[in-house]
Amino acid sequence: YQPIYRGDRLSGGEALLRWFTADGEQISPAAFIPIAEDSGQIVPMTRWMLNAACSQLVAWQAIGPEYAEMIMSVNISGKHLSNDDLLDDVQQAIDVTKIRPGSLKLEITESAAMENAEHTISVLNRLKSLGVQLSIDDFGTGYSSLSYLHRLPFDTLKIDRSFVYSVGESGENSEILQTIISLAKSLQKKVIAEGIETETQLSLLQNLGCDYGQGYLLARPQ
Ligand code: C2E
Ligand code: CA
Ligand code: CA
Repeated sequence: YQPIYRGDRLSGGEALLRWFTADGEQISPAAFIPIAEDSGQIVPMTRWMLNAACSQLVAWQAIGPEYAEMIMSVNISGKHLSNDDLLDDVQQAIDVTKIRPGSLKLEITESAAMENAEHTISVLNRLKSLGVQLSIDDFGTGYSSLSYLHRLPFDTLKIDRSFVYSVGESGENSEILQTIISLAKSLQKKVIAEGIETETQLSLLQNLGCDYGQGYLLARPQ
C-alpha cells in the first residue's frame, strides 16, 4: 500500500500488487500485469485484491476516529471493465468486507476508459450507483475526447507521473500540470498528483491547488 496525503494529513492509500517468487525475488507489476491481462488471470487477481484491500482498510479505519475517513484506491484493468462480472465483484467485496462503499475508490486508466467510451460511461454509472468513488488514472497519457471526459462520472483525476517528473528544480515545465489542474477544477473533480519525488514538485503542486499527493518524497509503497 502506498500512502496518499491531503496536505500533511494521511487520506488513504493505493493498493499495489507485489509478486515474490519462491526464492524471494520480486517481479515487477509492469512485467506480470500485462501477462495477467492477456491470460484473463487479471480478473480473479483483482477479485482477490478488492477483498484484501477492503478488509485491510476496514481494519485500519477501526483503529480510531482519525483513521475513519481513510480511502482505499484499487486499480481496475481495462480487461475487467469490459467484463460483465466487474459490478458483481465490487458488490461482493463490499458485502463480504462491510466496507463503507464511499471509502473504496476504483482507479481506471484514461486509455482503458476511452477505449470504448460509451460502454465505459454505462459501466461507471452503474459502479457509481453502488456508492464507490471513481478516479481516472494516468491522466494526460491517453487520447481523451473532451466531450467524453465531461460525461464520465469520475470523482478524481490522477495526473500521470510523467508530468510531475518533468518539473525541474526551478519549477520549469509546469504548464501542463497547471492546465490539467484547472481542467479538473472546471469539471468540478478533485485532482491528485502521483510520482512526487522532490520538494519543488510538492510545493508547486500545492500552490497550484492540487488536492492530493502521492510519491516517494511522501511515502514509498509499504
Ligand atoms: P500505477 O497505477 O500508476 O501505480 C503507481 C506506480 O508508481 C507504482 O508502481 C508505484 O510504486 C510507483 N510510484 C509511486 N510513487 C512514485 C515516485 O515517486 N516515483 C516513481 N518513479 N514511481 C512511483 P508499481 O507498484 O510498480 O505499479 C506499476 C503499475 O502496475 C501501476 O501503475 C499499475 O498500472 C499496475 N498495477 C499495480 N498493481 C495493480 C493492480 O492491483 N491491478 C492492476 N490492474 N494494475 C496494477
Ligand atoms: Ca493507479
Ligand atoms: Ca498512475
